[in-house]
Amino acid sequence: MVTMAHSSLIAILPGDGIGPEVTAEARRVLEALGLDLAFEEAPVGGAAYHQTGNPLPEATLDLAKRADAILFGSVGEPSCDALARHLRPEQAILGLRKELALFANLRPAKLFAGLEDASALRPEVARAIDLLIVRELNGDVYFGEKGMRTTDAGLRQGYDLMSYDEGEVRRIAIAGFAAAQRRRGKLCSVDKANVLETSQLWRDVVIEVAADYPDVALSHMYVDNAAMQLVRDPGQFDVIVTGNLFGDILSDQASMCVGSIGLLPSASLDEGGKGLYEPIHGSAPDIAGQGKANPCAAILSAALMLRHSLGQPAAADRIEAAVASALAAGHRTADLGGTCSTKAMGDAVLAAL
Ligand code: ATP
Ligand code: MG
Repeated sequence: MVTMAHSSLIAILPGDGIGPEVTAEARRVLEALGLDLAFEEAPVGGAAYHQTGNPLPEATLDLAKRADAILFGSVGEPSCDALARHLRPEQAILGLRKELALFANLRPAKLFAGLEDASALRPEVARAIDLLIVRELNGDVYFGEKGMRTTDAGLRQGYDLMSYDEGEVRRIAIAGFAAAQRRRGKLCSVDKANVLETSQLWRDVVIEVAADYPDVALSHMYVDNAAMQLVRDPGQFDVIVTGNLFGDILSDQASMCVGSIGLLPSASLDEGGKGLYEPIHGSAPDIAGQGKANPCAAILSAALMLRHSLGQPAAADRIEAAVASALAAGHRTADLGGTCSTKAMGDAVLAAL
């Protein structure tokens, strides 16, 4: 049992859309554990832009830096779509990842008992899913030089530079191998090395790092094939390590294999284990403010926080077991074909706790 010398400070950044609704439920669950946790909230994304003119205000960034861990909702708001790119809500999460050097994004996906009917896959295929996507978070097309220009023929041309240096690839490869060692010892590196220079470097570096992990079975797969294999036979995967863009797409795909995007949590870690925890879903403006959002991804993100940043693995297990038993008892939000509101789902998890 880990005893904490001081109370841990958790920054809650609810953000936009369904972010405030789902983080409120995750906070209730954290508070119910009886641990020595302190909470501080700050605006981020569209909410922060409307208050301060900046999607990532200095005070919010400051809180994120001071905190032991960050619970993040989601950012993105239709009313901000016409803003210049640097003012858009999405810049806030990109800025936090960059400022806090959160380069390793862990996205576990596993089928909860009783959710076979919610999966897009056949029950026997869905039951075999127990995988972890390790997505690189600080590089790739999201951070490369980008812009809009005019071609010689007078056509508008958008461009986003995809680049990785070997240091960036090495540290995410190490995170992938380490995760595979803690799990079933299998790592599949996903790239597009037959076409992309970045992917060729990716593959070379992953192979170099593999020499330090002789106990991990390494394989390589092109991303198009990986997308296919993920629905054909997801049980073949243990840990998948991949770049920022491919990881973004593959993890949304994995979410449908386990029933709903509203179930998948994520951890974004720096080299020292400090982390930001958020559902993989976005702000879902189509259902925001209606009490329809599934809070499980946010609640499970809080569990990852306890495990990876707060040294409380037993409390993390308790939350995960409570979510599993609430779902098994038939409590479901609309995305899973049920009638529970966001709050009722939070209540069901609290009751199971
Ligand atoms: P982002 O770019 O931020 O990832 P996105 O465009 O991928 O956003 P989401 O906000 O994740 O979109 O929403 C995709 C779909 O999934 C929407 O129809 C949304 O209503 C649904 N959805 C997302 N999160 C949840 C949730 N927690 N509960 C129920 N439905 C959700
Ligand atoms: Mg998305």
